[in-house]
Amino acid sequence: MKDEIISYREMCDRENVQTLQRGMNFRLNRNYSVILMSQRKNAPYNDKIFDDGFTIEYEGHDIPKKDGIKNPKSIDQPRNTKTGKLTQNGLFAKSIENYKSKKSFPELVRVYEKLFDGVWSEKGFFKLLDYKYQKDENGRKVFRFILEETDFELSDEVISRQKLKPRTRIIPSNVKKEVWKRDGGKCVLCGSTDELHFDHDLPYSKGGTSISVNNVRILCARHNLAKSDKIE
Ligand SMILES: [Zn+2]
Repeated sequence: MKDEIISYREMCDRENVQTLQRGMNFRLNRNYSVILMSQRKNAPYNDKIFDDGFTIEYEGHDIPKKDGIKNPKSIDQPRNTKTGKLTQNGLFAKSIENYKSKKSFPELVRVYEKLFDGVWSEKGFFKLLDYKYQKDENGRKVFRFILEETDFELSDEVISRQKLKPRTRIIPSNVKKEVWKRDGGKCVLCGSTDELHFDHDLPYSKGGTSISVNNVRILCARHNLAKSDKIE
């Protein structure tokens, strides 16, 4: 549950893993990724939650010390390993690039925040929307990932199978009309004009902005199904 306070062990149990040693865990299971964050003063990374309460900026991760590097904080955060594979930074960045070029939906990320040693809080599900790769105050490049809250929750009856169940919302008719005009009465992915649906794309969890023209679009039956296959 969102904002529930749990122990490290409970957090691992929730994710069906023995340990969670890394902060970034791309596709820890087949439905979503997991990140661990901290806003404590002595935290290794500079993570923050914006005042709107819906947006997190999450710092990417340094090159591992085991690569023979004395001070990882002096080196640009890597997108690739020495052998050319994507690092966790790279995997997260690539999923954002795919989303932005409309090849995929935003990656769902479950976020846990460390409050004290051994004390964690689940922050719920977020979608991974954007990143920057830019110089920090010390002149080395770091990744900053932008995540926005969604109202996805794991449903209790399927929690052991790690399935996601979206809550359904009613889309007001004025929004439908505007979306219909904007999308030209066609599936936004393939241009098909039959068996269309209004698709509410990973809605916000709170506030008056939960349904707006910006998070509703038109999908054909095939793309609508492809989407529910992906999230269920
Ligand atoms: Zn389509």
